[in-house]
Amino acid sequence: MVEILIGLKNINVFEVEEDESGTNLKVTVETKNTKAICDKCKTKAKLKDRPVVKLYDLTSFGRQVELTWIKRRFYCPRDYPELLVIPN
Ligand SMILES: [Zn+2]
Repeated sequence: MVEILIGLKNINVFEVEEDESGTNLKVTVETKNTKAICDKCKTKAKLKDRPVVKLYDLTSFGRQVELTWIKRRFYCPRDYPELLVIPN
């Protein structure tokens, strides 16, 4: 349901809490895909990093939402040693 509310797909919701004022929400989500396949060699890509992205100015049911998104980025040592492979 939160996926629909915030317009992101393939996420797990870690935590939803109110901020100190009790009026706004803090939502922490994580990319659901833990594996990715390289589109060239079709082998399992390796996890590159897990960058944390903060998104603001979202609104849900009239409340401001501070969204923290923990992404997963992958790479293929053979085909994309520096480039990223998008999780399937
Ligand atoms: Zn590859």
